Amino acid sequence: MNEDNKLGEVVIEGLSKSFDQITVLEEIDLKVKRTETLSLLGPSGCGKTTLLRTIAGLEQPEKGHISVSGRVVFSETISVPPEKRKIGMVFQDAALFPHMSISENIGYGIRKKISKEKKVAELLEFVGLPGFGDRRPHTLSGGQKQRVALARALAPEPSVLLLDEPFSNLDSTLRVEIRSEVNQLLTNLEITTIFVTHDQDEAFVLGNRVAVMREGRLIQIDPPHDLYRQPVDGWVAGFVGDANIFPFNKSVNSVCSTPIGEIPVLKVADNPSGILIRPEELKISEGNDGIVEIVEYYGHDAMVLIRLKDGTLIKARTPAVSNCQRGDQVSVSYVGMGAALL
Ligand code: ATP
Repeated sequence: MNEDNKLGEVVIEGLSKSFDQITVLEEIDLKVKRTETLSLLGPSGCGKTTLLRTIAGLEQPEKGHISVSGRVVFSETISVPPEKRKIGMVFQDAALFPHMSISENIGYGIRKKISKEKKVAELLEFVGLPGFGDRRPHTLSGGQKQRVALARALAPEPSVLLLDEPFSNLDSTLRVEIRSEVNQLLTNLEITTIFVTHDQDEAFVLGNRVAVMREGRLIQIDPPHDLYRQPVDGWVAGFVGDANIFPFNKSVNSVCSTPIGEIPVLKVADNPSGILIRPEELKISEGNDGIVEIVEYYGHDAMVLIRLKDGTLIKARTPAVSNCQRGDQVSVSYVGMGAALL
């Protein structure tokens, strides 16, 4: 494969990094395909930002290899400075230069003077802010600042874009709006993007694939649907969605027994310990399997917590129109396509 075919590809091998003798990244292997958007998802402090910063060249790992577009940017003997890696980065807080106009902020990384004005105008148009060029950052809303930060990161025409929780400082409505906009922009751009978040919805909406990180390690890398349906363990199952996990005893002919009866298994696994059933795979009807303890109403649907006769507490998602109430006697049946074994 020649270098052009690798444009935008990011390959990380055996990457380790520690701060003050505490390991923050441990033997990270990751390959991000060209034009792919990869979400890096994990709880606070698991090392997501550190991984992004090492790719950008803002942190020096102790060990490993990083190549961008087929070119080694970090190894035992090589460390290419951040500005030469052809990587654009957008941070949590936009980090615009306050004393510069919006146009100057965006134009900061463009070297060619002749085409600079035209390019800045194109980028302002692209992020939906035409006519904002002469304004100063403090006159912009949080969402507008993030769009300018994105335009500034794109200005030098990087082959890879790194986004570090770019929506985390926005209120929840704006966050969803900007997320949709950025999703559309990234789809149109066809640029390789690594997007850090601790929000599962965001990771699923934006990522073609999601890499789940825990305590400095990558635990699972899969498309959102596979991650949700077949998480590698109970921790991942719970991190990417609501989960009922029952202890696994045995399965006979791909059917296993659970507190809500016999359930088909999605795929046979080696030595499983748990059975995963998502709340939307359960249906509630009148009956005497258990009693409703709590109803959480979300508008689009509701989550119902049911105490079964054997004491197990389970979660079932019901349509918002269902009039299930605390104290109701109910039956629970499985309506999914097969449970994952963990
Ligand atoms: P968050 O979602 O909260 O931003 P994160 O997953 O991005 O978290 P990192 O910011 O990469 O996590 O931090 C991982 C660990 O490394 C944390 O324990 C953090 O305190 C530590 N750490 C990060 N940067 C430094 C530094 N410059 N010096 C010392 N420790 C650091």
